[in-house]
Amino acid sequence: MHTVYLSLGTNLGDKKQNLLSAITEIARRIGPIKAQSAFLETEPWGFESPNTFLNAAVCVETTLSPLALLRKTQQIERLLGRTQKTILSPQQGSRRSLPTYHDRIIDIDILLYDDLHISTPTLTIPHPLMNERDFVLIPLKEIMK
Ligand code: ADP
Ligand code: MG
Repeated sequence: MHTVYLSLGTNLGDKKQNLLSAITEIARRIGPIKAQSAFLETEPWGFESPNTFLNAAVCVETTLSPLALLRKTQQIERLLGRTQKTILSPQQGSRRSLPTYHDRIIDIDILLYDDLHISTPTLTIPHPLMNERDFVLIPLKEIMK
């Protein structure tokens, strides 16, 4: 088993529900949740938006390799994005007119994977920007104890 810390963020739709749905899918597809932080409301970081974020961190145990884990977190992002888009814009038929993944219905980042350090074009662990971002560090510190 590997111990993994994930960061979750959302600033669209029903944010609390987005985090809860993400955590449900993480438990189902990645492994048992060992710890879950409180949900923290934060201001957008690095871009202008009227929509505040809701952030959280979770600790998960998994047998997945780092790359398999990334594929699963991205699969969950797509899954929740598609569901949420339908709820947000049921009258909009065209895929192009719908929000894209970058609208951050849900963002799942891998912060830590055991004590592993890796740097590849698709995956860097520990997450390179985690130490600069309070919205990552505050929930993470809460569950790392
Ligand atoms: P953001 O940097 O805002 O999280 P994205 O969620 O769109 O942006 O992620 C962009 C890319 O970051 C992903 O396609 C993924 O390959 C890469 N990436 C590198 N390291 C990590 C990591 N530790 N966790 C998640 N994604 C990562
Ligand atoms: Mg991301």
